[in-house]
Amino acid sequence: MDGRGYVESLGRMKTIVYIDGETVVDYWDHPALRPAVNALAATYDLAARPDLDKEIHDLILSDSHLTGGKINRFLHIVLSREDLLARMRLQRAMMRYTGGCFGGRCVAGAVINALWSVTYEVDRASGGRTEYHRRFADYMKMCQERDLAVSGNITDAKGDRSRPPHAQADPDLFLRVVERRRDGIVVNGAKLQQSGAPMAHERLVVPTTALGPRDEDYAVAFAVPGDAEGVIHVNDSACSNAKFTAMEPQDIGNVTYGMHQSAHVIFDHVFVPWDRVFLCGEWQATRDLVHRFSDFQRFASSACRCGYIDLCMGTAAAMADYNGVAGKSHIQDKLIDMSIDAETLQGLVAGSAALASPTPSGVYLPDSLTVNAAKLFMNEAILKAGQRLADVGGGILVTRPSSRDLKIPKVGELLAKYHQGREGVDVEDRLKMARLAETLSGLSAPTTILSVIAAGPPATQRLNFRLLTDFAGKRRAAERLAGITKTP
Ligand SMILES: Cc1cc2nc3c(=O)[nH]c(=O)nc-3n(C[C@H](O)[C@H](O)[C@H](O)COP(=O)(O)OP(=O)(O)OC[C@H]3O[C@@H](n4cnc5c(N)ncnc54)[C@H](O)[C@@H]3O)c2cc1C
Repeated sequence: MDGRGYVESLGRMKTIVYIDGETVVDYWDHPALRPAVNALAATYDLAARPDLDKEIHDLILSDSHLTGGKINRFLHIVLSREDLLARMRLQRAMMRYTGGCFGGRCVAGAVINALWSVTYEVDRASGGRTEYHRRFADYMKMCQERDLAVSGNITDAKGDRSRPPHAQADPDLFLRVVERRRDGIVVNGAKLQQSGAPMAHERLVVPTTALGPRDEDYAVAFAVPGDAEGVIHVNDSACSNAKFTAMEPQDIGNVTYGMHQSAHVIFDHVFVPWDRVFLCGEWQATRDLVHRFSDFQRFASSACRCGYIDLCMGTAAAMADYNGVAGKSHIQDKLIDMSIDAETLQGLVAGSAALASPTPSGVYLPDSLTVNAAKLFMNEAILKAGQRLADVGGGILVTRPSSRDLKIPKVGELLAKYHQGREGVDVEDRLKMARLAETLSGLSAPTTILSVIAAGPPATQRLNFRLLTDFAGKRRAAERLAGITKTP
């Protein structure tokens, strides 16, 4: 499918989606979801069209060992260290292309590869009594042949976090099997905060935590189409996404793709036929399953954020130029620090791929300690990138006038005059880039950017240290200790 084909395929489904209190039939065209749909559609367009971005096109297509044909890499089984590295490069390049989540396709990849390896081992241990792996292989082949988008659904409601599933006041706070039938199972529960869930064709569901013997009913993995009876999606209500329904497109900042959308997926007594059940009661397998998809997800998200820091760097470089300070040493230092972080992060991700180990199924697992170090490094690096971007860009990130303000007779012209940056830079370009910078920085709350930039940017406080610190006196103290009596 290309992007258009993908969107048309959503129209043939009967997915139930609520947005801000209402059911929406053509949800893919709703402003509260459209940018997220566009980003997922981009994963189809980039696979279908080499002219859009040759690097991504080459990375996003891979050879399937199931179909023998070309497939989208997000559905690929990771069978080598090179596969892991290709996935790393794809995540980084895709994020640089969209500047936002591309439909949570990485989560699906994490779940797919973890399930592929664990179902193989469960079947082997059962001595042929179970056939989960064959079912899952059939399912994956179908997804690859039909080029379906899969949403990996992990996070349960969890209730009281200190209690295991069976000890919750409400047994449905972790998704569970409520009925076993001859033709399949019935499941009940919810998976909360699912990236891209309404926009994917399939829901691939696994437990959120390692389980014990008393949690057997919760040890269930399965797949259902997004429009299966009883599946309900409620779109998230992130404040930062509200701008997509409230503001003029040119005021939004990455209006095409820049939305991280997630949804709560409620499974209200959903029937799953046996050929789509991939674990049912094997609580012993859940420890490996959770460990593996977590590591795969840390791998993908860390690689993706390298691309995010790339964009923060590019946006900071543009803002610095528009403001006429591109050549200043403290600005250059911030850009260099961002670049160091992006490459260090990629180095950790690549290291986890280089040290990856194979499972009996052939799936390669990234080295656990290295990939966890990557994820922890990423947590800090992404916040620092946002802070550096705000520092370089200035207060205009949160204070810029709206495009409607710029149309006020006379006042609009005055606003444009006073928002001019370096000579030769179009004022509208500076305003657009400022809004992108605000979006990427993640510091949309004015108090946060205010804290970074107001009362003078950090470089001015550093300047005071240069001016006011008695460096000569401190040098004399050091020379005295070293026995130097004469300053040269
Ligand atoms: C934008 C977004 C997109 C997401 N996309 C997906 C997705 O696509 N698929 C998916 O499955 N999930 C997704 N998630 C969910 C994500 O994986 C969870 O947010 C994460 O696992 C944490 O769970 P929680 O939000 O319930 O936090 P909590 O579990 O409530 O954690 C809050 C705090 O409590 C602590 N805590 C929790 N339990 C314990 C305990 N037993 N002992 C000690 N401390 C504890 C934690 O360490 C943490 O500090 C997404 C989340 C977000 C925000």
